[in-house]
Amino acid sequence: MPDVHPDRISADPEVNCAECMKKMPLSAAYDPDDMDYEENFCARECYEAWTRKMARERAGGAGGEEVKE
Ligand SMILES: [Zn+2]
Repeated sequence: MPDVHPDRISADPEVNCAECMKKMPLSAAYDPDDMDYEENFCARECYEAWTRKMARERAGGAGGEEVKE
């Protein structure tokens, strides 16, 4: 019986940066302390660009609730 732990094989999965879609190992992803997203980012620049974009989308209401008059 081979002594291989499944945990070891998937210990460092590849993820895509949510902003620039670059592939990287999860261990190399940017990981801010107050991260409460499931997305991964390759660098702080991408993380900040992505959060700005999300904030703008939320503020603009694109795809959100529509105000009817
Ligand atoms: Zn990136």
